Amino acid sequence: MSNHREVIEHIYQTIKSIDNIGKVAKYIPDLAKVAPSKFGVAYRSIENEEYGIGDWQTKLSIQSISKVLSLSLAYRLLGEDIWARVGVEPSGNAFNSLVQLETDNGIPRNPFINGGAMVICDMLVSHLENPKADFLEYVRDISSCNEISYSASTAKSEEEVGYRNKALCNFIKSFGNIENSPDEVLDFYFHMCSIEMTCQELTKTFSFLAFSNFKTHNGDQVLNLSQTKRLNALMQTCGFYDESGEFAFKVGLPGKSGVGGGIIALHPEKYCLAVWSPRLNEKGNSHRGMKFLESFTTETKLSIF
Ligand code: GLN
Repeated sequence: MSNHREVIEHIYQTIKSIDNIGKVAKYIPDLAKVAPSKFGVAYRSIENEEYGIGDWQTKLSIQSISKVLSLSLAYRLLGEDIWARVGVEPSGNAFNSLVQLETDNGIPRNPFINGGAMVICDMLVSHLENPKADFLEYVRDISSCNEISYSASTAKSEEEVGYRNKALCNFIKSFGNIENSPDEVLDFYFHMCSIEMTCQELTKTFSFLAFSNFKTHNGDQVLNLSQTKRLNALMQTCGFYDESGEFAFKVGLPGKSGVGGGIIALHPEKYCLAVWSPRLNEKGNSHRGMKFLESFTTETKLSIF
């Protein structure tokens, strides 16, 4: 750990001293207000030792990182049936692309592109009594962080300009792969994406996928080992959209990004690392976040490969 602390500090300072390139996501007006200089890193080991640097205790909009959490809840509640409605292949396309859905008859390629996440949201809307409240309770439960919440303003801000997501949801509905009203599913989806967490909270939240000894405060195991393996495999192959291959190539860890500039990555049975820097590359992934993780697995020689 002390060794990792030094590595993190060193990489953090090095990256901070070079150009902060890329663009903050502007298509969601609320995200455009975030200071581009924010930069935080949080580390948590399987022994539950933690370390953080920079803005690691400032809330960020987790955006698509939340898709792993909704998928985990749907998987826990509905088991293998979920794979009849969403695939497990990388799409090789942008996260908000509509093109493959036409030929794929409304079955999204994977649960981390927007369309796939909406199908998972639809399952939760059908299954949960109070979808938004129950989902938040689940997230608070697995993270042991009761302060985690939706941002009503970010959800509203995305809804107001969410033409493409509305098109996606309606398009999938036209194939019969959305059961509920698109408005209801989208309201759940926009709220889910608006969840705010710190980097520190992200490492706590994702411990259930990283550490097989993880239990919630009620003593529950969130997913069984086979389900955990599968979610990590999906993060590895699809977590960064059309940059997933590049992330595996350079970093070599399961992970998930969001357009708020957050990335969570994990090494099963070893550590969880959350990085936040709002400037994104063309694929919508945090520029500094990718650089940081690449340097970390290179210097520590701790990737899964
Ligand atoms: N809420 C965002 C959207 O639907 C999530 C995208 C992302 O983080 N990649 O566009």
